[in-house]
Amino acid sequence: MELNPDTLQGYLRNRHAEIGVFGLDTEFRVEEIGDGNLNTVYRVSDTARPECSIVLKHAPPYIKVLGPDYPLSTERLTYESRALDVYNRLVSGAAPVQYNFDAESAVIAMEDLRNARVLQADLIAGTVDPLIAEQVGRFMGIVHSRTYIDNVDGETAHCCRRQFANTIMQSITADYVFTFPYTEHETNFWTPGLASDVQQLKTDSNFLRQTSHLKQLFLTVQQGITHGDLHTGSVLIQDNTAKVIDAEFAFYGPVGFDLGLYWANYLLSYFSHQDALRVQSALKTAIVQTWHAYTTEFKTVDAGLKAQTLQNIFQDAIGFAGLEMLRRLIGAAHVKDIEGIVDIPRKLRVERAALQFGTTLVKQHRSFQDVAAVIAML
Ligand code: ADP
Ligand code: MG
Repeated sequence: MELNPDTLQGYLRNRHAEIGVFGLDTEFRVEEIGDGNLNTVYRVSDTARPECSIVLKHAPPYIKVLGPDYPLSTERLTYESRALDVYNRLVSGAAPVQYNFDAESAVIAMEDLRNARVLQADLIAGTVDPLIAEQVGRFMGIVHSRTYIDNVDGETAHCCRRQFANTIMQSITADYVFTFPYTEHETNFWTPGLASDVQQLKTDSNFLRQTSHLKQLFLTVQQGITHGDLHTGSVLIQDNTAKVIDAEFAFYGPVGFDLGLYWANYLLSYFSHQDALRVQSALKTAIVQTWHAYTTEFKTVDAGLKAQTLQNIFQDAIGFAGLEMLRRLIGAAHVKDIEGIVDIPRKLRVERAALQFGTTLVKQHRSFQDVAAVIAML
């Protein structure tokens, strides 16, 4: 069944016992709140008690913004639901509570994070709280270290591999992050003044070699449960607490991918705030804090942790960060942080600086020794 505001009322009545929040004769108020491309997200509240509300996320069997001619398996929501279970089990309070998952209708009923703000919006406004970055670092550190291949028994690893074999979504990421931006593809676009920089990138053999190496890592390394889309739009802030959402790309993969995406979006924000030194300085602190919190969790789980393990995760993350920055500048999905700059010469300056930085991260990701070395380059 496909859900829309009209069919939702009947759906909620049918499923009221499973969802367990509303009474049988509740009058519902339904509001579409989603801003994403793939799915529909609704806030449903009890008209008599507006403070009683939930969020429903529904995956139609196609890409929402493109319509039924662009099919996409609804299984993506199964992975999101599994990830939410893992997150809530391992890091209490770091993700919305899941009330019910209905695979047949592809609907997750979850906690309504009322009055939450999207982290990306805060960063755009220049409000940077390094404590949020620390919480996200800790969240990643806990999920990754507790599911890390060297820290779990064979049975658990096998189970993770099976439960998070999200190959359809993984291959979408492979295309949009690692391949399309560097080929002639209809979804690519960039500010016209950037054309020669893009051309240079597409003919840089060292860059292309590193990109293909990172793509290989992305597709084959199986280390731990990876969120797969942990950019600053996938973190909500509620009462100074970071809440991770939108895990439909979750897969069993190279854990550095999450750090890389997260850092890349802080770095894009950094370049967008050209001349705002106080904001830039807070963003740098946030990046450092993320890593500090992340490694602390790894060391807690495994006192005998090999330094090489964290070094590999770090260097993978740097390479992935570079590619994420680049695809957000020249690929299909740009970031609001930079798209919102109306002064075109300024936008071009920001994009060129970010593009050069991202390129260096990709080409030299195996040479960076620590996060301080990355920050020193800014
Ligand atoms: P999509 O996969 O379509 O991108 P998301 O999971 O990112 O959907 O959700 C889209 C938007 O809906 C979020 O940016 C946020 O504003 C809102 N949202 C999602 N989940 C919740 C929630 N549990 N509580 C409050 N708002 C939410
Ligand atoms: Mg999504």
